Amino acid sequence: MPKMTRRNFLWVTGGTGAALATDQPRKLINKLIPQVVPAENKNIKPGEWALFATTCRECPAGCGLHLWHRDGRVTKAEGNPLHPVNGGGLCPRGQSSLQGLYDPDRVQEVLFRGKGAKVQKRSWDEALGVIGGKLAAGGKVALLSSLQTGALAEVMKSFTGAFGSNRLLFYEPFNYEPLKIAHREVFGLPSVPSYNIEQCNFVISFAADFLETWISPVSYAAQFAKMHAYQGRGAMNRMVYVGPRLSMTAANADDFVQVPPGYERLMALWMLKMIIDKGWGKNDLSSIRPDIERALGAGPIPGVPEEKLEQLARSFASAGASVALA
Ligand code: SF4
Repeated sequence: MPKMTRRNFLWVTGGTGAALATDQPRKLINKLIPQVVPAENKNIKPGEWALFATTCRECPAGCGLHLWHRDGRVTKAEGNPLHPVNGGGLCPRGQSSLQGLYDPDRVQEVLFRGKGAKVQKRSWDEALGVIGGKLAAGGKVALLSSLQTGALAEVMKSFTGAFGSNRLLFYEPFNYEPLKIAHREVFGLPSVPSYNIEQCNFVISFAADFLETWISPVSYAAQFAKMHAYQGRGAMNRMVYVGPRLSMTAANADDFVQVPPGYERLMALWMLKMIIDKGWGKNDLSSIRPDIERALGAGPIPGVPEEKLEQLARSFASAGASVALA
């Protein structure tokens, strides 16, 4: 006698005697069963909640997610409390990632466009057949993807490499290339740095909205909360925001210095010049002073008096651990 699985049980109990003589009930059940027993995960039990640990891909920060899942449907995203990046927190974008998953306008088919043709919808079988045929015929390969890291990035690299191509491009709509280049120039490493805000006494942000969007907002918000909390000793740590608008990060600053868009860079240069001129720096930076002069030109910063610049420069230079975010 065949083993009585849940699927067989439903098949037997769900069909009438007459229907059992045909394969009609099985066809029906095969349509119904996957709704409660997703083929890809046999551990899911109908009606029972399950929790999956995964990674949020709404931004490059990669916070740890716990997804509540029932009957083949994800219903709630929460932060993974054991994850080193977010420690259980989740920003509004991560919380609302389910809206993207269930968006009726989400692209669910393969969109295909031949040379000079309009975009057409194709089934996966059809598209894979076309792609496979082109690869087999020795076509040139280029792979364009959203940002990937780790094993998947390696697989993509190997895939393009297997076809003798190095044309693999990860595209980020809001990337951090300028930050990477700045980091390479100063520290020799072309990577996006991770800042230890929690350990700082003084943070100055040049329009870097690190509490809402910049690099890793969940991690930085948690660190900022600790850094900015009353420590029960001496003066409190401070955060200054320099930028054109009162963002959420600016609204949380001790001091919001409003400058016209594009003047953040000049503010930083003025402060650096002042630190060099007053001898407040720990290192001798006089060799870069002519470059700073050239970049500054003659103009002052509209709406920012010199005393304010001096006060910020002194605070930055004299704090035990200060950091400038830009
Ligand atoms: S910061 Fe927000 S959007 Fe980015 S990975 Fe974390 S939860 Fe997702």
